[in-house]
Amino acid sequence: MTNYQFKVDEIIDKIRDMGAEIVGLQFPEGLKVHATQLSDEIEAKTGVTVLISGDPCWGACDLSDREMEGLVDLLVHFGHTPLPIEYKVPTLFIEASYHLESMEILNESLMLLEGKEKIGLVTTTQHLHLLDDAASFLEENGKQVVMKEGSGTLKGQVLGCNFSSVQDLPVDAFLYLGSGNFHPLGIKLSTQKPVIIADPYLNQARNIDEVADRILRIRFARIIRAKEAQKFGILISSKVGQSRWELAKSLKKMIYKGGKEAYLILLDEINPPSLMPFMDLDAFIVTACPRIAIDDSEMYEKPLLTPHELEIVLGIREWEDYKMDEIKY
Ligand code: SF4
Repeated sequence: MTNYQFKVDEIIDKIRDMGAEIVGLQFPEGLKVHATQLSDEIEAKTGVTVLISGDPCWGACDLSDREMEGLVDLLVHFGHTPLPIEYKVPTLFIEASYHLESMEILNESLMLLEGKEKIGLVTTTQHLHLLDDAASFLEENGKQVVMKEGSGTLKGQVLGCNFSSVQDLPVDAFLYLGSGNFHPLGIKLSTQKPVIIADPYLNQARNIDEVADRILRIRFARIIRAKEAQKFGILISSKVGQSRWELAKSLKKMIYKGGKEAYLILLDEINPPSLMPFMDLDAFIVTACPRIAIDDSEMYEKPLLTPHELEIVLGIREWEDYKMDEIKY
C-alpha cells in the first residue's frame, strides 16, 4: 500500500482508448521503486507489454520519449506535469499526488510566519492537491494568501529551475509545503524573500535562511576561483528540456570578448566522470539543468558556474546583483 495516487484506472482508460499494445513507463528516481508493481498491474489489467525506463530521470525536461520512439505506442510519465515542449511519442502525465495523513504542520509554521500578513503559498507537483486546504487554513488564521500560475507551471507550483509562479508576487513571505531544501532554496535565491518550509514528512517547520547563506558562501568561493580561469568548458545538454544552445553560443562569445578561451561541450549526463577528460579546462559553465552547478558543486574538482555567475566572473554583473539561473519555457 502506497500513499501515492498512481491513477491506474486513468492509465487503463488511456491504453484502451488508444488501442496501445506496448506501453512505456518512466519514473523520477524517488518513485522508481514502484515500477515493477505498476508494470504487473497494468499488464494484468490490459494485456499490454510494458517497457520500463531504467535511466535516471529528474524532471519532465528529461522524458525518455526519444529513446522509446518506435518502441512504444504510449509513454506514461509519473511525478511531473508536462512542459511546453514537443514530445516524440504520445505521453500521459500522472502527477503521483501524495496523500498526507495530517496537515498539522501548518499550525506549527504559523509561529514562523508571525508578523507576516501576505503569504505566497507554494509547492511541487506531488502536493498541488493540498494547496486549497492549506490556503483556507492560513486565511482562517488571519493571513492573506497569494498564488499565481507561472510560465509552464500551475498555480502555486515551482520546479527546481522555474520560479515564475513566485516572482514579483507582492507577499511578505513564502510558505513552502513539502519536503527537502531543494525547492525552498530556489525560491529564496530567486525572490530574496523569507521562505518557511512546512515539512509534513519530518513534521517540522523551518526557515531556509541558514541553508541559503551556506550555498551563497560556496557560490562566492567558486566565482572567486573561476576569476583565475583562462579556459572554460560550456556544457550543453542533449536533453530537449534542458538544451539552451543559443545561450551557450552567446556565452562563448562573451568569454572570448573577456579575453579568455571557451569550448562548447555536448553531454547527455553531466557528472564528475564525464568531465574527467577535460582536465585542461579551468572552469565549466552549465547551460543544462541550473541546479547542477548550485546543488552538486561540491562533487566537482573544478568550479561549475551558472551563466549569471559567469557574468560576475567576467565583471559584467555585480555579486550584489546575484541572480538564480532559470530555464524559461
Ligand atoms: S532542468 Fe533540472 S530543475 Fe529543471 S525540471 Fe529539469 S531536472 Fe528539474
